[in-house]
Amino acid sequence: MSRATEKTRTGMYENVMHEFNKAADKMNLDPGVREILATTQNEIIVHFPVKMDDGSVKVFTGYRVQHNNALGPYKGGLRYHPTVDIDAAKALATWMTWKTALAGLPYGGGKGGIQIDPKEYSDSELERITRRFTYALGENIGPDYDIPAPDVNTNAQIMAWIADTYASSKAPAVRFKNLHVVTGKPVFSGGLEGRDRATGFGVVTSIKKWAESNGVDLKGKKYIVQGFGNVGYWAAHFMHETGAKLIAVQDHSGTIFNTDGIDPESLAAHSKENQNSINAYSQAEKIKDEDFFGLDCDIVIPAALGNQITVDNAQHIKAQLIAEGANGPTDSAAEEILLEKGITIIPDILCNSGGVIGSYFEWLQNKRAEIWKIDEVLSQLEDKILTAYDKVEKTAKKYETDYRTAAYIVALERIERVYKERGVFP
Ligand code: NAD
Repeated sequence: MSRATEKTRTGMYENVMHEFNKAADKMNLDPGVREILATTQNEIIVHFPVKMDDGSVKVFTGYRVQHNNALGPYKGGLRYHPTVDIDAAKALATWMTWKTALAGLPYGGGKGGIQIDPKEYSDSELERITRRFTYALGENIGPDYDIPAPDVNTNAQIMAWIADTYASSKAPAVRFKNLHVVTGKPVFSGGLEGRDRATGFGVVTSIKKWAESNGVDLKGKKYIVQGFGNVGYWAAHFMHETGAKLIAVQDHSGTIFNTDGIDPESLAAHSKENQNSINAYSQAEKIKDEDFFGLDCDIVIPAALGNQITVDNAQHIKAQLIAEGANGPTDSAAEEILLEKGITIIPDILCNSGGVIGSYFEWLQNKRAEIWKIDEVLSQLEDKILTAYDKVEKTAKKYETDYRTAAYIVALERIERVYKERGVFP
């Protein structure tokens, strides 16, 4: 398949359950815990009215799915995209449970969003949509209960509106005890320095660790990136520092290619000036979308939407490594093909966990009324990702399995242990 289409809507939940069942079988997960984790705890759908700029009123649909909170408050992003629906939110929330458990964080998993294309709305409409969505969610979110964060098409500004709306509904004396209802806020509004780059930094930390473990020199290695938003841009930024060469980028507007290399900073400047689109970038040629994944390269970084690597394109992939910046970019059938071809996949729940780890640091910073420095943030982030990577590598060896299954096993063992220690009420 080429760029993300409506196909992203199908199969994500089946994929996450397929991955879960594969790992649960392999590790012989306790049947009771398996039963609990095979379903989401809460699925919230809200319909809420918003006044448009022209005075008309439109009703929007928002979602928040809370998969599991055995390890701590639900945690996970909010996405504004036409493909957001209950199945996508369920899949993404479930992945968050595994991701936070694997990273060793005191969180569970949640995810949600609104089924809209934000490009169709003005900034003032987006602000009212966001504030009204927050109001509709009410106490279904909270700083010690469920803590959203940015995801596709949501950013620090949107998080600031959510924090302000949520905190404004509280008594003035406790207002500041509520601003960490979301992470990924702008730095001056309680955000963490470095949260913007945390996911991309984590993606590249994982790639560097893979290179080290496999005796690969990244200098001169060719890589391609799908999605040039927060994750894609920052991953390219940090890859550039390793000396690897970005040869192709794909986003919602098309695909560009330059065998001599694309400068991430120059492309980012172009995209910023062109409403977040790489279209018409002069220092690369436009190629067909369907040729993207089959390009001759060493590393593929999917950093857009789910279900992008499918049976339609998996057999054409020539890279040695797929580093999943996006959530769920590889569907289960494609994964079988890739593993058979000997391609390594650093799974999403490990590879892109820098985002939620950064969010955790922001949450701690807010709770303790501290201000952390960026060097401290990145070094602690690196430490947490490398610890998780190491566990996954060892588990993959122990169970003679792939990295995704190993990552699930590490996460599931942690949750299983907590259920066994605490028991199931009553
Ligand atoms: P973003 O909105 O900043 O960027 C999304 C990018 O995907 C944009 O460049 C957009 O053009 C591109 N895109 C959209 N539709 C596309 C299509 N049809 N084909 C190709 N490209 C398309 O979002 P983001 O925050 O960078 O998130 C990207 C992925 O990373 C998502 O899967 C998200 O869940 C995951 N993720 C994000 C974070 C985070 O901290 N932001 C953390 C972990 C995982």
